[in-house]
Amino acid sequence: MIILDQVTKQYKGTGKSEQPALDRVSLHIKPKEFVVLVGVSGAGKSTLLKMVTHEERPDAGRVIVGGINYSDLRAKHIPHLRRRIGVVFQDFKLLPDRTVFENAAFALEIAGHTPKEIKDLVPKVLDLVGLSGKEKHFPHELSGGEKQRVAIARSVARQPRILIADEPTGNLDDMHSWGIVELLQKINRFGTTVLLTTHNMAIVEYLNERTITIDGGKIVADVPKGRHRRAHR
Ligand code: ADP
Repeated sequence: MIILDQVTKQYKGTGKSEQPALDRVSLHIKPKEFVVLVGVSGAGKSTLLKMVTHEERPDAGRVIVGGINYSDLRAKHIPHLRRRIGVVFQDFKLLPDRTVFENAAFALEIAGHTPKEIKDLVPKVLDLVGLSGKEKHFPHELSGGEKQRVAIARSVARQPRILIADEPTGNLDDMHSWGIVELLQKINRFGTTVLLTTHNMAIVEYLNERTITIDGGKIVADVPKGRHRRAHR
């Protein structure tokens, strides 16, 4: 599903002698896997995610997602790609002047769904994320955890195959963080591949999913699902 083959990325403006943000990274993620990416700030996690979303291009190596080799990607493939991959961020990125319903509907509107389809789909995703009854609220009336749920609803409304969550609990207290982690697990159980970055080792241990550690642009550990707790004892 997601293949990175010897991917190197050096940002423009950084000296050739400096370490690249990603240095010959190879990685294979299977459909429906839940993968946790960990590493200190600046390790290369976001750059790796941007390889998958096609926000940044590698200087060398191949990125293949869902059978599409990004070096062959044509403009006509882009909408398909956007549909395939949902993304949520630490800072939610909600539209402040739109309600919960409207925020969740946003991606569907952009994609040209009819008002009827939107009326059908949005309550389903709001129910999935546990926000039924909050449709008319505005973001400033919500807790951080609820805001992240809206962001997740917006990303999953189009039923992406892959959900990328870049530090989704970074702005949340513990209680709300656990709710978001459980929601990501639920979405994964429904068959979506989840790629999560986190600094929170309690979350890593609780999930006990495949955990990849990046350091200095390289993968330094790749612990399979079910082994994490043991590996830490
Ligand atoms: P992480 O997500 O693990 O914090 P990043 O992928 O953001 O790491 O960053 C990896 C390296 O690339 C860091 O040295 C960072 O400073 C650099 N970097 C990230 N984005 C850019 C950019 N747009 N321009 C230049 N350097 C960048």
